[in-house]
Amino acid sequence: MPYIRQIIEDGHPTLRKVAKKVRLEELDDPLFQQFIDDMFETMYAAPGIGLAAPQVNVGKRVFVVDLDDDDDAHGPFVVINPKFTVTEGEVESIEGCLSVPGKIGDLKRYERVVCTGIDRSGKKVEHEGTGLFGRCLQHEMDHLDGILYVDKAQNIRPAVTEAEKAALAQVEVQPEAVESEAETLSA
Ligand code: ZN
Repeated sequence: MPYIRQIIEDGHPTLRKVAKKVRLEELDDPLFQQFIDDMFETMYAAPGIGLAAPQVNVGKRVFVVDLDDDDDAHGPFVVINPKFTVTEGEVESIEGCLSVPGKIGDLKRYERVVCTGIDRSGKKVEHEGTGLFGRCLQHEMDHLDGILYVDKAQNIRPAVTEAEKAALAQVEVQPEAVESEAETLSA
């Protein structure tokens, strides 16, 4: 049975380390497979749309994603040893992070990325992302390199309004609700 792992927060050294590549033999280890199940369980419990292994204090290059955006459903899936083969364009992002509770910030991300890696059975996978999904992939990839969004963000602030708090309920990245409120405010 999968269980919910503790999500560590900014200040914990594991979040600042470059995570290690997973060796192919590890995929045969039932404990590693269990770990992936635990990551999904932990992401759903948080709740979040993505979770990277360092956030549960495991320094391996693994992240899970499960999100619906305007265009499509992405996931649930796990990517092991991910790499971006394409990064292009630039978009503004408003993000939160399960490891930086209660806060959001503004930053720039690539508009489109293509992420390759392997799944839990060792099969090659490729995920192309734009919009929220693309930003989520970048946010999770940063975790594997010891980077938190707050390192890149401006105007890091507590979530104060109802819309911001609602958005935080969906962290790891995002804030549809914040964005639509921003539109409202500027209208
Ligand atoms: Zn995060």
